[in-house]
Amino acid sequence: MPNCQETLKELELFLDSELPNVRIEEIMAHLTGCTDCQGAFEFHAELRTIVRVKAKRDHLPEGFSDRLLACFEPQSE
Ligand SMILES: [Zn+2]
Repeated sequence: MPNCQETLKELELFLDSELPNVRIEEIMAHLTGCTDCQGAFEFHAELRTIVRVKAKRDHLPEGFSDRLLACFEPQSE
């Protein structure tokens, strides 16, 4: 079972559905028992939806949503 740090590190890949099923299952299992990570994932998922909808409507400058999302990424070591 991954710990919080590993789970948050894979958050973006998880939301992009770029993880193998076995990793997704591990993360889902972690989220079931960890409200901290649940909150972080829900926040990111919601943020992505907002950015996607807004980007379609307002034509955000190129790279804007990437930079925005990068602000919320866990710090790499
Ligand atoms: Zn956690």
